Amino acid sequence: MRKFNFCAGPAALPEPVLRQAQEELLDWQGLGCSVMEVSHRSPEFTQVAETAEQDLRDLLAIPANYKVLFLQGGATGQFSAIPWNLLGGGSKSADYIHTGQWADKAIKEASRYGQVNIVASSEDRNFSYTPAADSWQESDDAAYFHYTPNETIGGVEFPYIPEVKSPLVADMSSCILSQSIPVEKFGFIYAGAQKNIGPSGIAVGIVRDDLLDRALPGIPRSLNWKIAAAGGSMDNTPPTFAWYLSGLVFKWLKAQGGVAAMAELSEKKSALLYDFLDRSDFFSSPVAKDSRSRMNVPFVLADEKLDKLFLQESEAAGLLNLKGHRSVGGMRASLYNAVPLEAVEALVAFMADFEQRNG
Ligand code: PLP
Repeated sequence: MRKFNFCAGPAALPEPVLRQAQEELLDWQGLGCSVMEVSHRSPEFTQVAETAEQDLRDLLAIPANYKVLFLQGGATGQFSAIPWNLLGGGSKSADYIHTGQWADKAIKEASRYGQVNIVASSEDRNFSYTPAADSWQESDDAAYFHYTPNETIGGVEFPYIPEVKSPLVADMSSCILSQSIPVEKFGFIYAGAQKNIGPSGIAVGIVRDDLLDRALPGIPRSLNWKIAAAGGSMDNTPPTFAWYLSGLVFKWLKAQGGVAAMAELSEKKSALLYDFLDRSDFFSSPVAKDSRSRMNVPFVLADEKLDKLFLQESEAAGLLNLKGHRSVGGMRASLYNAVPLEAVEALVAFMADFEQRNG
């Protein structure tokens, strides 16, 4: 029996997608083998790759002057790829907003290749908010400006898109496809697939094509966006199963009504949980109201001695993976696209009951 899964990643996948993959597993497209067992250069897989790209273009309304890349090495690979691809065009410095653990990793990696200017940080209050748009200024000569629209661990989401002159780079690993975005405002968007797209093993990159000529000399071949773009993201063997499954998720998303429907649903799901947290005397959210993530909802119990019991009982009630990140403790419910509203209703009902018995 499938249970409600609040895992932060790899995260829940839509059940119809898994069923389709199961049905097609042994004999895909009448070929007598699975999609994992055919050449990535076969006409059948080429079709999968092209359809997935087109569906993603449709879902996010990606303009024609952007390349869509299906990359390896996860979002972490892109922490390195970004400076390698963008610091060779003149400026060797980049602006970063520091909002938590993922921004920190991106910053540390970029610092190995150039000068990083931290133009804003929310470290003073333990990364529990996003710096206000009027509280920082970009540098004059930055090669790019990087931020993390949604910090998966802290559960902090930007309520605005930074307005900057340099190419805007965004780590959308945990919020991509959860609302429509003006892609034309960005230079490079990237996301590890394993939250809102598909299984782990693939990362999506969306790059404005004038940025493909700014790589540092000596850039590793596997990180080079220009080579990836020229070769249809098949300079070497891609993770074909992850790509295929991501394509099924894109089809599923379209059938659900696309990102507009996901935006509405994510508002509903997160509001249900935050409203409950705000009314409760027992559970609370550590995140500033204007920066609360729709995707990742951390919360704490009034008495942390009850954490273990909460996790035991929630799991027994069919509510999986509510434990907070190991570095921050507490709880976290991730409400990605594949998590239905009923899952959040069940979670809130369980929490209300737990509070009554233990509060
Ligand atoms: N960035 C964000 C916002 C994330 O949530 C994660 C993973 O949880 C990463 C980057 C790292 O992704 P990957 O494991 O694909 O390297």
